[in-house]
Amino acid sequence: MNSMVSDIRFADVQLLRYTVEAFGQLSLRQKMLVYYLSEACLWGRDILWDQNFRYGLALRNMLEAVYVGIKSEKVKMTGGVSAMDEEAQAFLIYMRRVWFANGIHHHYSMDKFQPAFSESFLRRALLEIGYPVDDRLIQLIFDPSLMPKRVNQTQGEDLLQTSAMNYYGPGVTQCEAEAFYAGKKQKDEIRPPMYGLNSRLERDGNGLLVEKTWRSGGLYGAYIDKIIYWLQEAMTVAESRKQEKVIESLIQFYRTGELKTFDEYSIQWVQQTDTDIDFTNGFIEVYGDPLGLKASWEGYVNIVDRQATARTQTLSEWAQWFEDNSPVDVRFKKTVCRGVTARVVETAMLGGDLYPASAIGINLPNSNWIRQEYGSKSVTISNLTRAYNEATKGSGFREEFVIPESLPLVNSESSDKLDDLHTDLHECLGHGSGQLLPGTDPDALGVYGSTIEEARADLFALYYIADLKLVELGLVPNAEAYKSQYYTYMMNGLMTQLVRIEPGCQIEEAHMRNRALIARWVMAHTTAMKLIKRDGKTYLQISDYEALRSVIGQLLAEVQRIKSEGDYEAAQQLVEQYGVQVDALLHDEVLQRYRALDLAPYKGFINPRYHIVRDDTGQIVDIEIEYGESYDEQMLRYSDAYGL
Ligand code: ZN
Repeated sequence: MNSMVSDIRFADVQLLRYTVEAFGQLSLRQKMLVYYLSEACLWGRDILWDQNFRYGLALRNMLEAVYVGIKSEKVKMTGGVSAMDEEAQAFLIYMRRVWFANGIHHHYSMDKFQPAFSESFLRRALLEIGYPVDDRLIQLIFDPSLMPKRVNQTQGEDLLQTSAMNYYGPGVTQCEAEAFYAGKKQKDEIRPPMYGLNSRLERDGNGLLVEKTWRSGGLYGAYIDKIIYWLQEAMTVAESRKQEKVIESLIQFYRTGELKTFDEYSIQWVQQTDTDIDFTNGFIEVYGDPLGLKASWEGYVNIVDRQATARTQTLSEWAQWFEDNSPVDVRFKKTVCRGVTARVVETAMLGGDLYPASAIGINLPNSNWIRQEYGSKSVTISNLTRAYNEATKGSGFREEFVIPESLPLVNSESSDKLDDLHTDLHECLGHGSGQLLPGTDPDALGVYGSTIEEARADLFALYYIADLKLVELGLVPNAEAYKSQYYTYMMNGLMTQLVRIEPGCQIEEAHMRNRALIARWVMAHTTAMKLIKRDGKTYLQISDYEALRSVIGQLLAEVQRIKSEGDYEAAQQLVEQYGVQVDALLHDEVLQRYRALDLAPYKGFINPRYHIVRDDTGQIVDIEIEYGESYDEQMLRYSDAYGL
């Protein structure tokens, strides 16, 4: 559906629309459930804005007032193609970037945006619309040295003092915070809650560290009360008694802020698989905290895609076989691999840290011991993948970067499907595989934990995507199909993912570090794969795919060992040596070739909008889905309707 591909482009971003094909097949009651859960999902937006940056909401209010002033011509233009109009244009782009990032720092690189409009333009615009001028806010926008990074991961620096995120109060140092949470941990605690997950760590009046918990009546209480309201509505149309219980228990957690209650909720949630509609709503992922303890708010609502789910169910049924046959040391394997539930879904709403940029595969919960004892629930989101594939078709990207003799392989019909299969393997087998040795601290890998965990899941997927078992199970068409996946994965890790890095910067984000780590480690340990120069361009050449697989198996075994033993030194060594540095020359070349294609490296999504249809008596008779809303309209509506 070409009309669904949005042409909204700015800076390094393209906005896409996703369609929810499954929505039309739902009963009225199910549609109402989607609606209520969607409202609960949208009410968490401002929590995330505040988590990302202490001044995030104040900045957004100010910028949106100027945006409205420009659109309503309250902000005067000097007419024609004047310098003033260019400034207004630059402002609009800045506004859209800030919306996309849920703050004034880039969502991926974490660097503060550099505005292309002048301070005098902003000050004049504020005067013209009668908006109070706050020098501090203006300084935050224009002074590049002030809070330049949302999440800093540079080794050797105080990661809290140098990060602009708002998970720790002003002046709280990394050492103090680490000591605070080390003190919370009890030795040999078998089922530890995720300490620190749902609070801001601050100093009280006496200078002592205290946690301000995010709950009803606590920090973010007003938003959480709205979320609770819509969750209560959702309970009235839950699809099963079990699902009703799950929602009730989440409400209980939002009321108390007790992490034990969150664990109880997670256990119920992971075991509840008897419905078509499912959701996540809460404090989930810790990538926004440089110490990896505190979770950003996110939400999504999804509807099962039955046909595609048959594929992942096959994988789940064979989970134990995959565990038993992996190249990992037997001590680090699960003897009973249970509860690996994998579903393919269509998302019906994205919120918080999943909006507008979203993951396409999600595996939860994150608690290690719950995963070990109860398994995890994994989804791959087919309507987002569909939108991505539509957008990249015919972009010329592969023709530019894939070595010509491998292009037919990469462009083969099965290649797209292999991407989906990689995601399935990563989410429903990779993250769920392996176990920690008794007594290993789940946080032992510290700042390297996220990268090592992603590498583990990717390696598991890469190792098995080449396995004949998948041919036997009918999941890949033939024994050669995996080669396209090896090629594109390694090309991405070695070269093309560098398009997301600014010149002169290092690799920071966990998933990107993981891909670089795998690709470079493999290249360093085999001659079957190398980077070659042809006509002045660098290409990846793979001469022996089977050799590649065996090296991947070796790295999988090592990464699992590191995780299972909590070997911090080895994790540090591996990540720092292979996952972080950027070859400046290669980087430069890749950026130039990419720029010539004129593509946006980041994509995000505009949500659909749901409308309640009532009859004369006020009874709800239908929920309609609408796709027409523009990006700017949606952002302004959300700020207005879901802000307090
Ligand atoms: Zn993952």
